[in-house]
Amino acid sequence: MKLEVSVVWLKRDLRVEDHAPLFYAAKFKLPVIVVYCFEPSLQSHYDWDERHWRFVYESIIDLEKKIPVVWNYGEVISTFEELASQFTIKNVFSHEETGTDITYKRDKEFKKWCQNRGILWKEYQSNGVVRALRDRGEWVRLWASHMRRVPFKVRIESMSFADTSMISFDHELPSPIKSLDPSFQPGGESEAHKVLKDFFDHRYFDYMKNISTPAQGRYSCSRLSPHISWGNLSIRQVYQEATKLLKEAPQKKNLLQFISRLQWHCHFIQKFEDEVELEFKNMNRAFDHLRTTVEKEKVRSWMDGKTGYPLVDACMRCVDQTGYLNFRMRAMVVSFLTHHLWQPWQVGAKYLAQKFLDYEPGIHFPQFQMQAGVTGVNTIRVYNPIKQSEEKDEDALFIREWVPELKGLPTHLIHCPWKITSMEETLYQFKLGEQYPHPIVDVMESGKFARDKLFKVSSGEMARDESQKVLKKHTNRGSSRRTS
Ligand SMILES: Cc1cc2nc3c(=O)[nH]c(=O)nc-3n(C[C@H](O)[C@H](O)[C@H](O)COP(=O)(O)OP(=O)(O)OC[C@H]3O[C@@H](n4cnc5c(N)ncnc54)[C@H](O)[C@@H]3O)c2cc1C
Repeated sequence: MKLEVSVVWLKRDLRVEDHAPLFYAAKFKLPVIVVYCFEPSLQSHYDWDERHWRFVYESIIDLEKKIPVVWNYGEVISTFEELASQFTIKNVFSHEETGTDITYKRDKEFKKWCQNRGILWKEYQSNGVVRALRDRGEWVRLWASHMRRVPFKVRIESMSFADTSMISFDHELPSPIKSLDPSFQPGGESEAHKVLKDFFDHRYFDYMKNISTPAQGRYSCSRLSPHISWGNLSIRQVYQEATKLLKEAPQKKNLLQFISRLQWHCHFIQKFEDEVELEFKNMNRAFDHLRTTVEKEKVRSWMDGKTGYPLVDACMRCVDQTGYLNFRMRAMVVSFLTHHLWQPWQVGAKYLAQKFLDYEPGIHFPQFQMQAGVTGVNTIRVYNPIKQSEEKDEDALFIREWVPELKGLPTHLIHCPWKITSMEETLYQFKLGEQYPHPIVDVMESGKFARDKLFKVSSGEMARDESQKVLKKHTNRGSSRRTS
C-alpha cells in the first residue's frame, strides 16, 4: 500500500515563517512532502529570465537548511504524476497566486487534475489580495485586518516529512542558475531577514530623502522587493516589523511612508487579480488606437541603453546588469519609451519583466499602464529625462557608473552631452556620435506630442465612460472575475 501524504506546493512563497500551507499541512498529521517545480514552460515564457530562477534556486537551497524540499526541473502535472505513482496524495496545500495567463491556465489544469483524482487542493491567501473580492470599497479594511492577524507559526520540529529518496527528479538545471552572480541580490529567507534588519537598523533614516535618486536610493530604499515578490518574507511580516518599530522610532515619517507602500504593493496586485486582461489590454480601452506600431530600432536603442539621454541609458544598463531600479527611475524609463518614443507599453513591459529581479506581474502590468497614461484615472506624467538627470543625479554619480563613455566630461555636459562644442570635444577627447549617440528624439517635441495626444483622448466621451468603469472596479466598488 502506498503511503498517504499531504503535499505543500511552493510557488512564490519560498519561506517557512508565516506560511499558511505549511502550517495547515502540519496540522493534518500526515507525512508531508514539500515540492517546488522549475517549470520549463515558464522558463521559455516571455517574462522569465535566468536571474529569477537563480533567485528561486538560492531560496530553495536556503529552505533546505530547515526542511526537506523536493524539487524538479519539470512541469507541475508531470511532477505530481510522479509523486502520485509513489504516494497516495490526500491533500495539496499552496498559496493563491495572482499570476499571468500562463500560470492561471496551469492552475486551472492542476485543479482538474486534483479533482479527477479526488485530491483536495487547498489554497490560502498570499498577502493582502482578496480573491473573488465583491466590493472594492471594503478592500482597505480587509487589507488592514490581514496585516494585523498573528502570523502562522510553523512548528517544523513537530512535522514529519515523507521519505522521498526513491524519487529521481531532474536536478539538471542550466548551470548559470546554480552559480552565484554577485551583481544581483541573492535569494533566500535568511538573506531577506538580514536585509530587513539592516533597513530597520539604519538604512531607512534617509528613505524619503533618497527615494527618487537612482544612486542613493539603492541604499536608502529597503531593497526588500525581490524577497517579497518571491515570498522569502510575507508582506505581513514586513508590515508587523515596521509597525513595531514605529512605536519607538525617531524617524516616524519615513516608516509611515514605507508602510503606505506595503499597502500599494497589494493594491496593485488586487487590480491584476480583478482584471487579468491587464497583462495584454489597456485598463481604459479608449486608448486602444494609440501607439499601434512597434518601431524596432527605437525600442532596441531603449533596451540597449543607447538613446542618447544619459540618465535613461544609465538606468537601462543598470537594470540589465543588476535587476534593480528605484521607483522613479522605473517610471522615467517607461515614460521615455511610451511617451517620448511613442511605443506600446506592452513591448517594454515584456522586456522589463525579464530584467526586474523583483518581477511581480500584479504590480508590473498595472504600473506600466499607469506610467504609460492609459488608465484614464491617473495623472499623466511625461518625465523630462534632462530635468530628472539634473535633479535626481545632480553630480552624475549614477551616470558615470553606468555610462562610462561619458565619465571624462564635466557634470553639466554629462547631463546634456549634445551641448558639447567642437573645442570641448578636442579638450575631452570625446566625439558625440562616435563614443556616445546623438539623442534619438527631441524630448521637448516628443513630450508635447505625447501630452497633446493623451489629453485629447482622455477628455473624450469614451475615455470618461471607461474611467468611470475603472474607478468602480479598481478604486471603489467592484467585483472580481478571477476565481480559478
Ligand atoms: C513600471 C514599473 C514596474 C514595476 N514593477 C514592479 C515589480 O515587478 N515588482 C515590484 O515589487 N515592484 C514593481 N514596481 C514598484 C516599485 O518600483 C518597486 O516595488 C520598488 O522600487 C522596489 O524597491 P524597494 O523594495 O527598495 O522599495 P521600497 O520603497 O523600500 O518599498 C517597500 C516595498 O513596497 C512595495 N512598493 C514600493 N513602491 C511600490 C509601488 N510604487 N507600487 C507597488 N508596490 C510598491 C514593494 O513591495 C517594495 O518592496 C514597479 C514600478 C514601476 C513604475
